[in-house]
Amino acid sequence: MSGPTDATALLQRLIRLDTVNPPGNEAAALELLRTELEGAGFKCDLLGAVPDRPNLVARLAGASDGPRLCLLGHVDTVLADPSEWSVDPWSGELRDGFVWGRGALDMKGQVACEVAAACELGRSGWRPASGELMLVLVCDEEAGSTYGAKWLCEQFPEQVRCDMLVNEGAGEIVEFGDRRFFTVCVGEKGVFRFKLVTEGRAGHASMPGIGENALLRMVDVLKVLDGRQPDFDDYPEARGSLAALLGEMGGDVGAALDRIREVEPRLADQLEPTMRVTVAPTMIRASAKENVIPSRCTVRVDCRVPPGMGEDHVRRRVEELIGPESETGYRIEFEDNVVGNASALGGPLAAGIEAFVERTAPGAGLLPLVLPGFTDSNWFRKAFPDCVAYGFFPQRAMSFFETAPLIHAPDERIAIDDLDLASQFYRELSLELLA
Ligand SMILES: [Zn+2]
Repeated sequence: MSGPTDATALLQRLIRLDTVNPPGNEAAALELLRTELEGAGFKCDLLGAVPDRPNLVARLAGASDGPRLCLLGHVDTVLADPSEWSVDPWSGELRDGFVWGRGALDMKGQVACEVAAACELGRSGWRPASGELMLVLVCDEEAGSTYGAKWLCEQFPEQVRCDMLVNEGAGEIVEFGDRRFFTVCVGEKGVFRFKLVTEGRAGHASMPGIGENALLRMVDVLKVLDGRQPDFDDYPEARGSLAALLGEMGGDVGAALDRIREVEPRLADQLEPTMRVTVAPTMIRASAKENVIPSRCTVRVDCRVPPGMGEDHVRRRVEELIGPESETGYRIEFEDNVVGNASALGGPLAAGIEAFVERTAPGAGLLPLVLPGFTDSNWFRKAFPDCVAYGFFPQRAMSFFETAPLIHAPDERIAIDDLDLASQFYRELSLELLA
C-alpha cells in the first residue's frame, strides 16, 4: 500500500488470511506485515524453524545506543465454527462500528494497531533519538510457541533481546464501585499439568473380588477435588491487584476477595484463580478392555500455578487437599513444568502507560493483573531477566466483562474506535520512551 497504514483496513486483511493453528499457515500474514513495515523504513528479517512457519523481526534503529522497546504480537488464531457465528469468521466484516472475525481481539487487532503505529512513525521520517523500536510478530502462540516466541528467544536471543516489551493480555476498562481502571497484565501463571495415578491388580471382570480396581481407588481421590481448590497464595503480584482496588490492604487474600465480591462479583471471579494453584481434572483412563479390571488408572489434571512457584509448591498444595501421596495411595507425575513469571509495575514503561491512561480517561487507575492463562511474554522474561514485559491493548468501547467471553468464542469483534485508540497508544508510547 502506498497510503497510510490504517489499522482497521489492516485488521480486515489479516482476518481474511486464515491462520487457524493448527496448522497455522502464518506465512502470508507475516509477508503482508513485512511489506508494510519495509515500506515504512523498518529493517525486516523472517526467521523460522521451518520455511512455512516464519516469524518477523522488524527494527527501526536510533542514532545511538539506548533502550529497546519491543511491540510483540502473534498472528495465529484458534479455530472457529462458522455455524455458531453471526458473520463469516474470516470475513473481517464491518458492522455496527466493529470489525468482526476470528482474531479481532486475540490478537490480530493488536498486531494491526502496532504495525499501523510503527508505519506511521517510520513514514513520517521519525527515528528513535537513541535505542530501537522493534516489532516481533510471531507464529504458533496458540499451540505452544514451539515455532514462535519460545523458539526465537532460544535460537536468536540477540535478534529479539529487548528492555521493554508490550504484548497481549489486558488493556480493557473495568468499573469498580465509582472508580475506573485500565487493566495491565504484569504476569502469567505457570503450567504444571500432571497425571494422578492409582494402581491395583488386574483380574477377570466377571469375578470382581479377585482383582483390585484402580479406577475405584481413583474415585476416592477425585471426590476430594469436587468443589475444592488449594489454599490461596499470598504473593506480591496478587497483593498488587488487591491493593489497587481496595487501597491499603490489611488481612488475608481470601478476606480481600470477599470485599471485592461485595462490590463486583464478576471481578472477584476473574481474580480468584490467579491467587492460588488451580487443579482441574480433565481426562481419565483405566482398563483398555471392558472385561478386565484395571490395574492402573490415570487422570490428567490441568494445573496453573502463580508466578515463580514450582513443582515442590504444587505437590505440597495437592497433598494438602488429597493427603500425602504415599499414605493415600495415589501418585503425581508431572507432564509440564513451565514456571510463570511477572514484571513489577514500575519504571518508564509503566509510567508511559499511566500517562496515556491519564490523557485518555482522567482519574482512571491501572489495575495490574496476573493472567490465569499463558502468553508469549513468559519466554521474553525468561530469556532476558531485566526485560519489563506487560500486556496492554487499550480498549474502552466494551468492558473487560464484555470482551473476555468473546475471546476464543463466536462473534469475536473489536470496535473501530478502539483500533484508533490503541494505534495512538503504541505511537505515543514509542515517541515517549525512545525520545
Ligand atoms: Zn493471544
